[in-house]
Amino acid sequence: MSAAGIVIVGGGQAGFQVAASLREAGYTDPVLLVGDEPGLPYQRPPLSKAYLAGKTDAEGLNLRSGSFLAEHRIALRPDTRAARIDREARRLILADGESLAYDHLVLATGARNRALPVPGADLANVRQLRGLADADHLKEALAAAERVVVVGAGFIGLEFAAVAAARGLSVTVVEAASRAMARAVSAETSAFFARAHEGWGVRFVFGAGVEAVVGESGRATGIRLAGGRILPADLVLVGIGVVPNAELAAEAGLAVADGIRVDAFLATDDPAISALGDCARFPSPFAKGLTADGTVRIESVQNAIDQGRCLAGRLAGRPAAYGAVPWFWSDQGRHKLQIAGLAGPEDASILRGSGDAFSVFRFRDGALRAVESVNRAGDHMIARRLLAAGTPLQPEQAADPAFDLKALATARA
Ligand code: FAD
Repeated sequence: MSAAGIVIVGGGQAGFQVAASLREAGYTDPVLLVGDEPGLPYQRPPLSKAYLAGKTDAEGLNLRSGSFLAEHRIALRPDTRAARIDREARRLILADGESLAYDHLVLATGARNRALPVPGADLANVRQLRGLADADHLKEALAAAERVVVVGAGFIGLEFAAVAAARGLSVTVVEAASRAMARAVSAETSAFFARAHEGWGVRFVFGAGVEAVVGESGRATGIRLAGGRILPADLVLVGIGVVPNAELAAEAGLAVADGIRVDAFLATDDPAISALGDCARFPSPFAKGLTADGTVRIESVQNAIDQGRCLAGRLAGRPAAYGAVPWFWSDQGRHKLQIAGLAGPEDASILRGSGDAFSVFRFRDGALRAVESVNRAGDHMIARRLLAAGTPLQPEQAADPAFDLKALATARA
């Protein structure tokens, strides 16, 4: 390989992981991370949890120190936006017009929050949460707020609601679907978390469309629901999902469909360009029967890290298809939710455990596809092993508290 080396667009979880894993894998040519945020690569999960609650500072979010990057010869260009790819010349054009040569280009551009498509959504105290700058604004806004409305009962909306409620604020969560986290978890897990939040004083309005954000003098004073009901608010947090940052790829003529299309090796249709993390749509054995074409786009730390390792291996000469078990966590108040595998809303649910500590085993076409564990970390670890090995499990076994799941997982390992 010539000396241009590997240029990575996006200095987030996935971009950083590719860079670090390239060095671990013995890659010696230049590695350059181009990211449009300031500072070092950092982790996002604490932004809606410990950081927002004031339990960790910004330095505690960094994935690694500046000296780690220097020691590993990972060059970082923060505050730098990539504007265009010249595939023929193998150059990345930056927003300021500078162009950088690459031998291989990695797109790790992540995702951005979906905007609330209603009048008033641009008022000053209507916020979102994706980056450190958003979290800093929100921390300040929370200190002055009394009535908070959260639009969207997804993971981020609910984590934010838990932090706001713990501060003693009045919190209402508005959700278009009929239950919380409906896209990702079973009705049982939804119901548990809705009850838990209600116990902390959070109110829910399900099945409600937001018609407008109403306000005065440039500031929101509430939101208007379809039907006219007004929910007063001095802070509105919008958490209605994300849109993959796929424009760079699309404008360069690469295949894009709710994410940058890659194959099982995370390669795009240009052999000199790969993509991974929140911005990439890839074929997954765990998506069988879940999506029409067996591809998924996953927004999780696990996915960013494991794809980073997998891609670095290929670029360092050891190609392998990506097939890691998807897993995810969400901390809401004192409860920890962990999910292994991928489930759809139609998948059957089998409950194991009760009260504040239970797991929901999700079956599709008779096979175990996912396990949601609430305050049952042991079940989560077992589930990851069962799913990784493809160990058959019957719904009756999952439901039987006397059935030894751990023995099954270890026997097959
Ligand atoms: P990102 O981390 O978004 O990084 C992409 C980077 O690319 C960004 O810095 C972006 O600004 C930059 N970029 C985009 N376009 C350009 C361009 N043209 N030029 C230069 N730079 C560009 N996951 C979990 O598993 N568990 C959790 O509890 C959890 N909590 C979360 C809480 C919050 C508040 C958020 C926002 C996410 C959370 N996630 C969680 C998801 C997880 O953080 C993401 O899946 C992960 O960060 C994805 O990594 P990525 O590198 O693909 O994208």
